[in-house]
Amino acid sequence: MDAFEVLLESSADAHGHLCPGQVVGVRMAMLGCRLIGLNEPRRHDQIKKLIVYVEMDRCTADAVAHVTGVKLGRRSLKFMDYGIMAATFVNLESGKAFRVVSTEEARSLAAAYAPAIAEKHPQQLAAYKRMPDSVLFRVQQVKVKIDDCDLPGPTRFKAPCTRCGQVVRDQREVIEKGQVLCRPCTQETYFSDAREVTWPDMNWVPGKNNNQSKSDGNAEKMSGGDKPRPYFCQ
Ligand SMILES: [Zn+2]
Ligand SMILES: [Zn+2]
Repeated sequence: MDAFEVLLESSADAHGHLCPGQVVGVRMAMLGCRLIGLNEPRRHDQIKKLIVYVEMDRCTADAVAHVTGVKLGRRSLKFMDYGIMAATFVNLESGKAFRVVSTEEARSLAAAYAPAIAEKHPQQLAAYKRMPDSVLFRVQQVKVKIDDCDLPGPTRFKAPCTRCGQVVRDQREVIEKGQVLCRPCTQETYFSDAREVTWPDMNWVPGKNNNQSKSDGNAEKMSGGDKPRPYFCQ
């Protein structure tokens, strides 16, 4: 793994700004990976062994994902909406898992670790760099049972909704009175009042209509062989 400062810089770049959350997240990821014995998590041979559960959708989560290389699209990043500054690092090979929790004490101790800085965020940023891991974090060894349907790899199961026909992947269907349903059909949704609409330029295709795409004729080039090779695909 790169040095802390190198990781912090690239993490802040990817995230869009340098913030206390980047410092905490980079350190959280470094500690988590060390605890499960994956010190090069982004390397091809280790990336398939790592699953990370993040418990907040805040700055820290971006840093954890950046340093570890876990991704939602690879199914190696799991978002648990707990509102807790914590992440659990799982080594799929050994089964070892550690939950690293960012402490509230670290917040109250920021002034003690960076007394020369008065402003809150710069003070936290400097202090979180100086604190030992033992002040910044609590660690729990945990067991994580990961269902086959939550693992990386090809889709293991698909079921069409008996009401609307929508195909539901990875056993996220709901069974109601013996009927297979997608979540929207059970009303368990974050949206409401869904109605199908048309939209302007609805027959637009990349490269065919230049009103929206100035990169005329780039469609061929874009599908060419210059792209970096993916680690693995599903
Ligand atoms: Zn941020
Ligand atoms: Zn449905």
